Amino acid sequence: MLSLSKACSKTRESRRARSFTGAPAPPWRLRNVSGLQILESLPFTRFNWLTHGFSTRPRGVSVLDSSDPRNTRTEKVLNLGYTDWDRRERVDENRRRFVHALGATEMPLVTLRQIHSDVAHIISAPPAEPPKGDALATSASGLLLAVQTADCIPILLVDPRHRAVAAIHSGWRGTVARIAAKALGRMQMEFATKPADVLAAIGPGIGQCCYEVGPDVVKEFAAQSPQARSWFEGPFDALASGEDPNPLPWLTMMPPGHQPPPPRCHLDLKAANAALLTDASVSPKNIFVSELCTFCHPDLFFSYRRERTTGRMMSVIGII
Ligand SMILES: [Zn+2]
Repeated sequence: MLSLSKACSKTRESRRARSFTGAPAPPWRLRNVSGLQILESLPFTRFNWLTHGFSTRPRGVSVLDSSDPRNTRTEKVLNLGYTDWDRRERVDENRRRFVHALGATEMPLVTLRQIHSDVAHIISAPPAEPPKGDALATSASGLLLAVQTADCIPILLVDPRHRAVAAIHSGWRGTVARIAAKALGRMQMEFATKPADVLAAIGPGIGQCCYEVGPDVVKEFAAQSPQARSWFEGPFDALASGEDPNPLPWLTMMPPGHQPPPPRCHLDLKAANAALLTDASVSPKNIFVSELCTFCHPDLFFSYRRERTTGRMMSVIGII
């Protein structure tokens, strides 16, 4: 196990904000289309009956004032979520542009009221209101299933044999609740999906480099899975058992108010979600994980943890 100090020095290194200049590692592609940049999972593009994409931050009509006081610029962004700071008509226009860029203007967008739950909905027609939950699945053509994120992990599933798809929103609570495995379970029940046939794209979300968590999160994961330790860097056992890895701060001779910061671990949510899927018998060779960290790439993604006042990306999948 890494010591806390070692984990932290790695974190500082990774935390330096950097612009996105390189190409995403295969099998991912950043496609320029209709003035937008859309991230795609290449293995999904070989199905001509399928459309999918992960939106990015630039080039929308929403105006975001930087929350960073050193940065006074206002920025045009592709915010796809109805956030407090944005105007509804701008979000609608961004959504229209995104769907147009995907070539899916005829497909109604099906969204969720996301609640960090384990609730997955099977959809066969556009619902009147976004249902409450964190996953959507369908075998019907003509629907564009969407989840919204700004650090949480978006996951798209496709079952090519039965032509069924799912979109999943998985933050730490959803991961503890095993939402990805439960959505796959619903596909097995409703569409006779076999996990061995399934392809999974785990999209851009906060990386282990930037996702510091405290004992509350560590304890939940430790209780949920014996593998959980492998998804964390830092003093996992100490935080999981509730003991303080920095006991007796007076021994360090620090004056009051200058105690060392409370210990933290770094969580790899993408690895945890990939493990949920492999445990449910999805083949590791069919799971494609984007290495892009939303916190590390402010030019390309929104990050709630980094900015608080920010937009939402959308990850969509549908059967044409
Ligand atoms: Zn990062």
